[in-house]
Amino acid sequence: MSKEVTFSIIKPNAMKKNVIGKIVDKFESNGLKIAGMKIMKISKSKAEEFYAEHSARPFFGELVEFMTSSPVVVMALAGENAVLKNREIMGATDPSKAAEGTIRKVFGDSMGENAVHGSDSIDSAKRELALFFENNEICNS
Ligand code: ADP
Ligand code: MG
Repeated sequence: MSKEVTFSIIKPNAMKKNVIGKIVDKFESNGLKIAGMKIMKISKSKAEEFYAEHSARPFFGELVEFMTSSPVVVMALAGENAVLKNREIMGATDPSKAAEGTIRKVFGDSMGENAVHGSDSIDSAKRELALFFENNEICNS
């Protein structure tokens, strides 16, 4: 087991449902700690950089449009095996295939509007955290 920090976003469709607290509770009650958190509006250029790996996919334009359509919450989540644990708490990308009780099952609306983002590896987490947080905005102790 190793202590990790991963990156999470509460996406615009979940923000519109006013469920920041309910989503944060899922992380906390499953053993992750909120080590950094802010509400912000993501710029188009930042969203394009963040999702660069998907730039050739047909849904890329729609995804950037969606992620910049309202404020979001960006978070650093810390804990044992935080990257994998967060992916388990989130559930599958497609909410209709996500396990019962996962965030995407409960709050996701569609493949695109699936309530939360979570880093898929330690390397992705490092890259994504650096895009949205200064070092002194992550307090992991
Ligand atoms: P995940 O968010 O589970 O890591 P991906 O990295 O594959 O999933 O995709 C990034 C995001 O792009 C998804 O969370 C979703 O919002 C969007 N997305 C992925 N596949 C599709 C699709 N087929 N149609 C629309 N949006 C999609
Ligand atoms: Mg991904």
